[in-house]
Amino acid sequence: MTTRPAESVVHGSKASAKDLPSVDRLLRTASAAALVAEHGHTLVAGEARALLDTMRARALAGQLDAAALDPAACAQALQARVAARLAPRMRAVLNLTGTVLHTNLGRALLADAALAQIGATMSAPNNLEYDLAQGGRGDRDTIVEELLTTLTGAEAATVVNNNAAAVLLTIAALARGREVIVSRGELVEIGGAFRMPDVMASAGATLVEVGTTNRTHPHDYERAIGDQTALVMKVHTSNYAVQGFTASVDETTLSGITRARGVPLAVDLGSGSLVDLTRWGLPAEPMVQAMVASGADVVTFSGDKLLGGPQAGMIVGRREVIDRIRRFPMKRALRIGKLPMAALEATLRLYLQPEHLARDLPTLRHLSRPAAAIRALAEQLQPAVAQAVEPRFEVEIVELMGQIGSGSLPIERLPSAGLAIAPAARRGQGRALDELASALRSLVRPVIGRIAEDRLLLDLRCLEEPALLLDQLGALRDALEAR
Ligand SMILES: *Cc1c(COP(=O)(O)O)cnc(C)c1O
Repeated sequence: MTTRPAESVVHGSKASAKDLPSVDRLLRTASAAALVAEHGHTLVAGEARALLDTMRARALAGQLDAAALDPAACAQALQARVAARLAPRMRAVLNLTGTVLHTNLGRALLADAALAQIGATMSAPNNLEYDLAQGGRGDRDTIVEELLTTLTGAEAATVVNNNAAAVLLTIAALARGREVIVSRGELVEIGGAFRMPDVMASAGATLVEVGTTNRTHPHDYERAIGDQTALVMKVHTSNYAVQGFTASVDETTLSGITRARGVPLAVDLGSGSLVDLTRWGLPAEPMVQAMVASGADVVTFSGDKLLGGPQAGMIVGRREVIDRIRRFPMKRALRIGKLPMAALEATLRLYLQPEHLARDLPTLRHLSRPAAAIRALAEQLQPAVAQAVEPRFEVEIVELMGQIGSGSLPIERLPSAGLAIAPAARRGQGRALDELASALRSLVRPVIGRIAEDRLLLDLRCLEEPALLLDQLGALRDALEAR
């Protein structure tokens, strides 16, 4: 490509912009032509143009090595650009953070049954909104409504895009232009922009706060209910705990009050569980069935938190109230997609066989994994990991405290185990840890741990296939050496 013979390219000399090949000339080289044959002209020519643009900018700045003009080097750079462009941005990672339902890492993993249902229904037409018995138009809620009512004891159910949508829709449908009563102790912010007062405003309802941050009593609600009250809401304080001198009104007491006044009661459970987690030795999380039984008219909860399914928002409750929510026009904009619907149906069906849940549902399988089994895994992995990171780092087996995550039981901890990787030298340990964390993230299956007390901790609770880590240790060693 360069007009000068390759031998004249002296190592270290800089290239001039006028020596850059044209796009056409670059594309005519044998290896670029092979790329075009494989990926088509559009992509490869676009990347060739972008590559030459960056090379030109560097040449003009006097920063482009003459060696970069070598046809083989150009072809390789082009190939790398094309590969990077085609590489998926969304990738599988190893969650060794110790937080099982990690919002930044996609929350619940789908069960095999859910993946199979997606595979079976998404590449073909399906009966998403088609009534196979009658041969006409159907409603997508029908796919999961019976499962949800069976599992929760509610009369009716509808499903939307996520629980934030479930809450927004519930408030808008039941209380637009009127008042919603919420305890001051429950005005939660759930990460990002989801804050109860803002949601109320978006839904067009007026928030009426009752009680205080730490104490709310039945008479607080009783006094606040008036002509303009359209809804009383209880919000599960899923990501914090108010401790000490506290009082709140339980759902049974509150539903007695709201029923007597003819005002519906909605409970936003956030995570909510359909099974009693104490059965697996886990802390007790509020159950949806219990909320329904205590007299709540509507209960909302998430699909990808403790339920262990896809992103979705469940709205269950009394038929008359659910019908009003379902008929509200905003429902159409918030509806669940067919892909999560397939996964949700399959996930809910697993709950019909609760005895197998800790085997078939990844979320519960991870949560119920005994600390001793996790520790045994740590012992198995320690020598190989130590070998990969020595001599800069030392690896110890440690007991750890993990958490459920996604706002479930924020102050409960899950006894776990894992590896603590610490820099061997005190000097520069902060930088060493950052480099280690970055090397772990650079792997084909990025490994995400957490840094605490000058160590990088890998909690092994969610590592089901040790090979996923072991097979990458060679690459980890290389990545560390390159840093
Ligand atoms: C998580 C949560 C939400 C939002 O649910 P998404 O499914 O993430 O939309 C709403 N309310 C509470 C109390 C929550 O914990």
